[in-house]
Amino acid sequence: MELELESILLPGIEAKRPLVIAGPCSAETEEQVMNTATELAQNGVKIFRAGIWKPRTRPGAFEGVGVEGLPWLQRVKKETGMYVGCEVATAKHCYEAIKYGVDILWIGARTTANPFAVQEIADALRGTDIPVLVKNPVNPDLELWIGAFERLNRAGIKKLAAIHRGFSQYEKSQFRNHPQWQIPIELHRRIPNLPIITDPSHITGNCDLIAEVSQQAMDLNFDGLIIESHECPARAWSDAKQQVTPAHLKMILDGIVLRDHTIGDKPRTEIDDLRQKIDELDAKLLQIFSERMKVSAAIGKYKFENNITVLQARRYEEILNTRRKQAEANNLNADFVIKVFEDIHEESVNIQNNIMKELSSKK
Ligand code: PEP
Ligand code: MN
Repeated sequence: MELELESILLPGIEAKRPLVIAGPCSAETEEQVMNTATELAQNGVKIFRAGIWKPRTRPGAFEGVGVEGLPWLQRVKKETGMYVGCEVATAKHCYEAIKYGVDILWIGARTTANPFAVQEIADALRGTDIPVLVKNPVNPDLELWIGAFERLNRAGIKKLAAIHRGFSQYEKSQFRNHPQWQIPIELHRRIPNLPIITDPSHITGNCDLIAEVSQQAMDLNFDGLIIESHECPARAWSDAKQQVTPAHLKMILDGIVLRDHTIGDKPRTEIDDLRQKIDELDAKLLQIFSERMKVSAAIGKYKFENNITVLQARRYEEILNTRRKQAEANNLNADFVIKVFEDIHEESVNIQNNIMKELSSKK
């Protein structure tokens, strides 16, 4: 289905990259909202975000102040002139947010993953022309993400944009949510007019990595950034590690190098896409190396505790034989694969030797 799209830029918002949305993960108190908003507005931010209802992974965490926070957002609008936005996950959230004059809504990653919930929101918004930003679903499923845009569009919502916030994964990595840039790139190929706003806060989960990921998003010619900012991140009631102060946010934004000044289609060549894929695959390889070395270390500890030698010649033989067969089954050059595994084995032995030394010295 072709989407019928209109610009999400509300009056007074300039069409220049990056479109910036900033504010705390959660509205906590009226004072925290007003202090953060005032500072952000002074730094030139035009759109303020604050979660009112918070979808938390585990029960018992702070689940948002609820409707009590909506008048605070009204106050932000009135006193700073910024537009305000919050997350909605149910029809009731939509009615409440609109009643209090919230200008922009977003659908959270956990909600996008649920077509019933997205349909409920689309039905609740029918007849309005409020801009809706749709975060990618938590799982890397482009069709599910596109399906959410289609549901909203069928309900007459035309001011749509995507928020790329990364995808959850079981393995630990430097990112809280893996960016998998190829997915928003493919979204852009499928729906070229849909703006893409990157959320480096939820991708990284770490305030020290936000600048780098923001720059990457701009280098991919994405349109905007949504960044969590709190007057005092260390005291935040949710997502404390990834929030930045308004002053830090300003530094991040000032440091961004824009390599193309127009919003629109800088043609990506095929080699850019292929290199992107190589980068992603290498990152995965490194992550797997890291996990493998951790397992080696655990085996080293076991060998020490059970008085077994580090080098087990039969086991090494068996590894090389099975890997050779697996390489052939995967159409890989077996000699190359054996070379890689010899190096990996050497490093494992080094790690285990070090563990033996370390544990013996403690005895
Ligand atoms: C948020 O923006 O604070 C949020 C809950 O994000 P996500 O849906 O991406 O986890
Ligand atoms: Mn958050």
